[in-house]
Amino acid sequence: MRTPYVAGNWKMNLDRRAAGELAAAVRDHAADGVHVGLFPAMVHLDEVTRITAGSHVRVGGQNCSDQVSGAFTGEVSAPMLKDIGATVVLLGHSERRHVYGETDAFISSKVRRALEDGLDVMLCVGETIEQRKDGQTETVCRTQLAAGLDGVERSALERVTIAYEPVWAIGTGETASPEQAGAVHTYLRGILAGMYDDDAAAAMRILYGGSVKPSNAKELMAVPDIDGALVGGAALKPETFLPIIDAAR
Ligand code: PEP
Repeated sequence: MRTPYVAGNWKMNLDRRAAGELAAAVRDHAADGVHVGLFPAMVHLDEVTRITAGSHVRVGGQNCSDQVSGAFTGEVSAPMLKDIGATVVLLGHSERRHVYGETDAFISSKVRRALEDGLDVMLCVGETIEQRKDGQTETVCRTQLAAGLDGVERSALERVTIAYEPVWAIGTGETASPEQAGAVHTYLRGILAGMYDDDAAAAMRILYGGSVKPSNAKELMAVPDIDGALVGGAALKPETFLPIIDAAR
């Protein structure tokens, strides 16, 4: 059985006070049965890890360097994230891929670095609208998944979560239907089985992300291969995020 996982990607939003208040609301709501993750802006990690310490909430960075330390101005390393109390890092988000030009090879080196340095990883994959219209959805997702997990041992897989996030559904209000999302999740699980084995693929959680909200969360997460949600906009307020956690129960 895969425990459902609902995570909030706060992106570059919220000031310190608002981040702390939201973290406290999520902490007070989180309980057994659903894993809950929060990805605040780097500067709020300290506050959010402090507020959620000892609770069911896991806290992560939205990105990290593929290097451990050194002359890399503006970067934050996996050991630094760990040191501040983060246990997980989001890698390969579509905004990193498409706004900042991160390549599969670069993301892959970050995944390996993060796992090696003791962080769990949430690896995002997903196609653009042009790629979907062009019939490239499976190829794109397969390529991103295979590259992202390149060099990752089977024994490390229990520390990896996949998030399928069609780019056309992120922040647009347009959501993949349960059928569209479910088809890609099932496809990805098959790819994982091919890369590793059936047991490893069956144990891995694949979350859906892209305009998840209280009104569509339940039907999406009812799909057998959808193990939870990575939530952007709706994760910024308790009144929209907490019902999504409940929908995963
Ligand atoms: C995201 O950025 O990971 C995301 C899913 O955003 P939204 O829920 O706003 O579409």
